[in-house]
Amino acid sequence: MSGELNEILAGLGIFDDIEWVEVENFAKYVYPGLEIVMPADSLEGCRENFRRAFPSGGKAIDRIFSDIARLQRGLSPAGGSGRSFGDVISFVRTLPMLISLSRKSFFDYVNKYTDDERLITVLSSLWGYAGLPSRHIPALMLLMMSGECYGNPVSFPRDGYQTVSDFLAKKLLDFGGEIRYSARVSGILMEKGTAAGVEMSDGEKIYGRAVVSNADTKKTFLELVGRQHLPRKFASRVDAHTPSASGISLHLATDLDLSRFDLKYGSIFYYESWEDANIFFDKAVSNELNLESDNVVIGLQAPSLLSEKLAPEGKHILHILLMPVSPAYDHNFRIVDGKRGDEYRALKEKLADVLIRKVEGLIPGLSNSILAKELSTPYTFERYTGATGGAWYDGVSSIKQKFSRPSTGTPIKNLYLTGTKACGGAGMSSALRGGIDTWKAVSEK
Ligand SMILES: Cc1cc2nc3c(=O)[nH]c(=O)nc-3n(C[C@H](O)[C@H](O)[C@H](O)COP(=O)(O)OP(=O)(O)OC[C@H]3O[C@@H](n4cnc5c(N)ncnc54)[C@H](O)[C@@H]3O)c2cc1C
Repeated sequence: MSGELNEILAGLGIFDDIEWVEVENFAKYVYPGLEIVMPADSLEGCRENFRRAFPSGGKAIDRIFSDIARLQRGLSPAGGSGRSFGDVISFVRTLPMLISLSRKSFFDYVNKYTDDERLITVLSSLWGYAGLPSRHIPALMLLMMSGECYGNPVSFPRDGYQTVSDFLAKKLLDFGGEIRYSARVSGILMEKGTAAGVEMSDGEKIYGRAVVSNADTKKTFLELVGRQHLPRKFASRVDAHTPSASGISLHLATDLDLSRFDLKYGSIFYYESWEDANIFFDKAVSNELNLESDNVVIGLQAPSLLSEKLAPEGKHILHILLMPVSPAYDHNFRIVDGKRGDEYRALKEKLADVLIRKVEGLIPGLSNSILAKELSTPYTFERYTGATGGAWYDGVSSIKQKFSRPSTGTPIKNLYLTGTKACGGAGMSSALRGGIDTWKAVSEK
């Protein structure tokens, strides 16, 4: 957790209620024969480590880091409340740069300064956080993400991220709100073209002054509202809206002493080969990837090394992420007649073993020390978040995506989007920012 998220939680008055652990190194990038560490809270330290790994790329690295710093300076006051005249001038000066960087891919942007493919690859290492590799992701997006990740303090809740959700839920109850867990909305009730309430899956109807949806963009409009209520042009834009990629996540419990390995980072980005991540990405989304034989890109986190509270003494937890993976992988994960039966479970077991084997390149002996494992597929994510195809980030934020997200307001009167769907971003800070924007829009109406 860094920068913006800390500020948002502080603004909500819950930052100080949570016990945080400082993370010394935000990330480690691991490629065959190369490891680079990204220190937290030091843009300069990150730049230096890139320069040390690529001595001949110094000029390009300096140029890119100076753009990251320019964006940090220009954008930091944009969301804040205590904006000075100088802040506003700085933001306005950054505008032409913002427009230009939003129109080209990160690859094209970096390629202007260097043609060292390995340097471009390593400079793009963070792409997994946005779900789009260098030839697909707008330069602006990856630079802004880099600006948030490099050079900002990074901290982690000692009791795990559930504490953040628990505090937010408590805040809502304190304000007189009510939360119904495991309750599903089956439709948004429309009256004379206006959103009037929701219908629950058990048939109960709940009416309100405003309806706020955190279901994904496609589901909100095409399933919950219904095409018949949408303006024709808007319906075609929703049709054209491409959901982002999904992936696989594996949670492990182990009695292997993970402190013996160099894993104490916010995240480890593990590249099995130097193959262009764009090729891996394209193959994966078009379902041509074979997870057993192809080289992949893996995200790895060992949270119990950051907080001793997350596992009993002598034991650890490990989180392995692989993205993207097509929901069509291996005959739709071998779901038969819409049912997730023995074949689905057997495939999950096999994929868990494949991922563990791959990670053994970094953690030898892991496969012999597993106490528990839980693998999630795109269908698991679809089940719990309702997102089409288990998409991790609602709509894909590619340069090609014609329909940018419709923000908090929608063409349907009294219907609002929230979370990441409301602010064109992805991740926890966007989810919170979306919530705040929606609250403002609803309370000001
Ligand atoms: C494996 C994985 C790892 C990630 N890691 C990180 C990370 O390290 N850092 C980071 O910043 N971000 C991370 N993200 C992204 C982050 O989790 C999301 O961007 C964020 O949770 C989106 O928040 P949201 O509120 O917009 O939507 P969601 O969290 O998806 O919430 C949507 C909610 O709406 C509910 N809902 C949907 N349809 C209905 C319905 N019909 N009726 C009732 N309820 C409904 C769902 O049940 C769900 O609770 C990760 C995502 C994944 C999948």
